[in-house]
Amino acid sequence: MELMVHNGVPTTPNNFLVWYTHVSGREPDLTRMIAILKDNKQEFSEAVCSDLYVKFFTTEIEDLTLQETTARIEGELQRILGYVGDAGLGAADYGKTLESAEDDILGAKDVDGLKYAVTKLLADTRKMEEINEALESQLATSTDEIGQLRDDLEDMRREALTDALTGIANRKLFDMELRRQARDAMEAGEGLSLLMLDIDHFKKFNDTYGHQTGDEVLKLMAVTMTKAVKGVDIPARYGGEEFAVILPATDLSGAIHVAENIRERISTKKLVNRATNQDLGRITVSIGASSFNFGEPLSDFIKRADQALYKAKGNGRNCVVSQETLVSEALSFD
Ligand code: GH3
Ligand code: MG
Ligand code: MG
Repeated sequence: MELMVHNGVPTTPNNFLVWYTHVSGREPDLTRMIAILKDNKQEFSEAVCSDLYVKFFTTEIEDLTLQETTARIEGELQRILGYVGDAGLGAADYGKTLESAEDDILGAKDVDGLKYAVTKLLADTRKMEEINEALESQLATSTDEIGQLRDDLEDMRREALTDALTGIANRKLFDMELRRQARDAMEAGEGLSLLMLDIDHFKKFNDTYGHQTGDEVLKLMAVTMTKAVKGVDIPARYGGEEFAVILPATDLSGAIHVAENIRERISTKKLVNRATNQDLGRITVSIGASSFNFGEPLSDFIKRADQALYKAKGNGRNCVVSQETLVSEALSFD
């Protein structure tokens, strides 16, 4: 609370959740983000606080929306079951009507009796028709409503798996896809490779040009990665300023080729702030590449790409290093 007051943060329950989590250290990305905001002398205005809340606690909001949507689907299904039940009762009644009409018609003693039986049958038939029409229109309404709910769910699913800033796959989708691609690779007996990318000296870029301009660079990274890969490849934001690309049906040399292409495209791009025409120089990216060994834990597969990336940083950045160098060095110790 003291920290919130000190930073001029409105003391609302949502903000308390944000700052409590920050102080607890449970969410390093949040802590980093708050540090960035402070470094940039950003005021913790209502808009900034609300952004923080949405950015780091939206899954809970998604859960709420999901609960609401699920409840709406359940309600709609209950209603449909109700209509169908009513229709069943109506049909059963009508069956009885037909039976008694048969008796009435066969047993009619005179024309009046026959007339009465037929009139009654017609009236009941019309009633049945009305019930059916009502049911039809109720079912049509429910079909529309369910179609809308299905679209809502699809939107929510997509949003939950997309990185809000860059529009590419987020970490959650990356994890899901990596698992799926590893299984497919084993089934098909095909190669699977992975790139881990990290922007070089990005902290300095942020410190120099501000966090918002930094965010534009993250978007540029996402666009460049997407342009540089094939449709089956999956570029993702792994976290902060780290990205990854899953490369199905690709061996290590193919992966290095793709990595070089991305690295080249990024490093040759002249960055200009469109609003102010300010020259922002260039940025570079370091990339680590690994290829999947069938059956190994995915964490090992990722770790090799990470270690290669670490080595690329050590080699002076703006370069691609593959797991091959790691292996040959490990062997040279023998
Ligand atoms: P290195 O070349 O070793 O990777 O240096 P670096 O400065 O890029 O690495 P470091 O891990 O020290 O800093 C990462 C920086 O990335 C910190 C933070 O300023 C920035 N960053 C992380 N997430 C975001 C984000 O969502 N937006 C912006 N603008 N910057 C971010
Ligand atoms: Mg980093
Ligand atoms: Mg970096």
